[in-house]
Amino acid sequence: MIKQFFSYYKPHRFLFFMDLFIAFIMAVIDLIFPMFSRQFINDFIPNRSIHAMIVFSTVIVILYVIKIGCNYFVGYYGHVVGSRIEHDMRNDLFRHLQKLEFSFFDNHKTGQLMNRLTGDLNEVAELAHHGPEDLFISVIMLIGSFFILMTINWQLTVIVFVFVLLTIYFSIVMRKQMMTSFRKLRQRQADINAQLESSISGIRLARSFANENYENEKFLRTNRAHLESRKDAFRAIAVYTSGNSFFLDMMSLASMIAGGVFVFNGQIDYGDLVAFLLYIAYFTKPIRSLIQLTQQLQSGMAGFERFAETMAVEPTIKDVFDAQSLDDVKGIIRFEDVTFAYTSDDDPVLNKFNFEVPAGKTVAMVGPSGVGKTTISQLIPRYYDVTGGEIYIDNQPIKQLKLSSLRENIGVVQQDVFLFYGTIKDNILYGRPDASIEEVVEAAKAAYIHEFIMSLDEGYDSFVGERGVKLSGGQKQRIAIARVFLKNPAILILDEATSALDSENEFAIQKSIEVLSKDRTTLVIAHRLSTVISADEIVVLTDQGIAERGSHDKLLNADGLYAKLYKAQFRGYIPDVLA
Ligand code: ADP
Ligand code: MG
Repeated sequence: MIKQFFSYYKPHRFLFFMDLFIAFIMAVIDLIFPMFSRQFINDFIPNRSIHAMIVFSTVIVILYVIKIGCNYFVGYYGHVVGSRIEHDMRNDLFRHLQKLEFSFFDNHKTGQLMNRLTGDLNEVAELAHHGPEDLFISVIMLIGSFFILMTINWQLTVIVFVFVLLTIYFSIVMRKQMMTSFRKLRQRQADINAQLESSISGIRLARSFANENYENEKFLRTNRAHLESRKDAFRAIAVYTSGNSFFLDMMSLASMIAGGVFVFNGQIDYGDLVAFLLYIAYFTKPIRSLIQLTQQLQSGMAGFERFAETMAVEPTIKDVFDAQSLDDVKGIIRFEDVTFAYTSDDDPVLNKFNFEVPAGKTVAMVGPSGVGKTTISQLIPRYYDVTGGEIYIDNQPIKQLKLSSLRENIGVVQQDVFLFYGTIKDNILYGRPDASIEEVVEAAKAAYIHEFIMSLDEGYDSFVGERGVKLSGGQKQRIAIARVFLKNPAILILDEATSALDSENEFAIQKSIEVLSKDRTTLVIAHRLSTVISADEIVVLTDQGIAERGSHDKLLNADGLYAKLYKAQFRGYIPDVLA
């Protein structure tokens, strides 16, 4: 994992090493001042050498001016390195998420993933910048001042270093506790995000059930758990920093007393003691920043762990080595002994399921909710992979096909239509981003949504979504259909919305589906009878598998399940048991 972390420095190594080099210069400049003070007190003052004082001071001023530039460089470019690393990681994670399959998103809440892309990576950026730099400066300062102190007086140096070792030992002991509490804190933060995401997207539902109090209580619990773990984390930090601070204070005191005794005994001069005390002040700085660094290391690494964990999830649905393209698609879909379960613990949704849609035909699928209609539609574009058996398109197993080629040739209108935040035009163009505006209009006309769009103030440039125009379910669905028109795939899959649409919408959707499915292989999961009647074949699905199949007339004559339900039905809609 450390290796993976450092691999992100590689593209920015020039800036990174510049940063370290400049940090090194800063450390050296800092180390010079106490030596100057020592000289000043031991030599220049007793000898009244004004000239030497002026020369030395000038040198020091020059060094300090150089330090201004160094400070600026480290403060700015150091953070630039950290931010670039954060930016690269975020890009990688986003790109990786685009590759991951549906089952991953079934198991990860949106809010948690957002947290990984934002909060977690912020912490990583802080560590990426301060980590190596603080470590480097601090180690140089510590080693540098250690050797300088040794040249002044070794006994005094030993006393000081006993305290340094004590402080470092204490830090290591405390480290573990902090690590645990930070990991917990990150988890709680992710919980909050996940819950916020779910509650805010579901706020309309909560209102409709007058469940605001329930939502509030649920959130208060999560928020309280977050507060508690934040308190735990700060408690760990407080113990850590106060303990360290105490050791450092004691170190200053001990060296002052010991140094005083050494001066009494004439073992060292006053200037030596001053230099000593100044160096000790310089000690506390790197030690404090090392302490700070361990904190950053905890939270940064906890964030990076989550990042690495997500990056390590490999998509199982991907192109095989010699994947084929789907050319000249006829659009024959065939399921052969297909078995499928969402997870290995679940009962299979499909068991040795056999089914086909001939080229260019329309097959309607009806059946009670939960028997696997949507599942079947999701197996064809390989949103999920079958557990057993095989699905073929034009007699080629879909596993042998390039995913991009497979999905380019399938148009899906899902049960709940999703429109991106953007204009209507953008949303239709999503079907084929290089299409012209004329083609967009043509698609909208075919989907019977053009007139509605033109009735809006801003026409195709109207925004949809939160701050844009409000669309009904049927209007959204027709935009989704226009999107698929533009894509013009050989195979069409429609998972119709169950919501009862007003008759005008229903008519428009019916018309647009008819136009769209013409001369294309179409699998329609039907809730509206009109679609079913005009289909080439109707498949009645139950949890036992396919109960009956055939044309509307044939099934009516057969007087089976379909006929029974058809006769019992009320105008236009298939009753709940069937749809
Ligand atoms: P239908 O569309 O016929 O109503 P689905 O295909 O949506 O039925 O669901 C079939 C079964 O699979 C149901 O028992 C449902 O609970 C289960 N299921 C659907 N989606 C998932 C999923 N993403 N993860 C786990 N189980 C699922
Ligand atoms: Mg469904």
